[in-house]
Amino acid sequence: MNGYGILKGLWVTFRHFIKTYIEDFKRGRKFYRSAEGIDARREADVEGIFSIQYPEEKLPVPEEFRFLPFLVYDEGPDGERKIRCTACGICAKACPPQCIWIVRSVDPATGKPVAVPAEYYIDVDICMNCGFCAEYCPFDAIKMDHDYEIATYDRTATNIYDLEKLLKPASYYAEIRPRNFTREQEEKAAKEAAKAAR
Ligand code: SF4
Ligand code: SF4
Repeated sequence: MNGYGILKGLWVTFRHFIKTYIEDFKRGRKFYRSAEGIDARREADVEGIFSIQYPEEKLPVPEEFRFLPFLVYDEGPDGERKIRCTACGICAKACPPQCIWIVRSVDPATGKPVAVPAEYYIDVDICMNCGFCAEYCPFDAIKMDHDYEIATYDRTATNIYDLEKLLKPASYYAEIRPRNFTREQEEKAAKEAAKAAR
């Protein structure tokens, strides 16, 4: 029948519209406006509204979601930054589009290389979010971020991320990837215990 598809589509919209109010009534007033209600919109059997009014509303991302990489630093007792990266260059070698540049620090007195980056750059326009850098880093020094809101009006001036822009504390990493962080901490503690027992 001509127009049946349009009517069917309108019926789906109307049904979800009405069910939003019914669910709101059943699950609590303004349920669909709460953080829990926004999260519920991605359920496969969602009854009410399932669209998102971005950017006012945002869906929470799963732990394994990955966008751009960031460098992790630990905080010392006096709040000093202990950069985990040793400037080994493995991430730069593993990066498929070759968008990582690293300059290793040099001891000014001896001229010998020091295991800490003096400069570290990622061209985020070239990065394809594959996560290989984080996968291959032997020091858990680079991880994939959840922050996807990086739109800019001037990509040439802002999209080469340097060391300062890439560095984030381990507490941030623990916040966005709690299961990964805990697993790594446990593995590290087990390794140290085994080393101490030898
Ligand atoms: S982030 Fe990891 S793999 Fe890359 S240079 Fe630093 S320590 Fe090496
Ligand atoms: S996520 Fe992939 S493309 Fe981006 S910097 Fe890491 S290895 Fe390179």
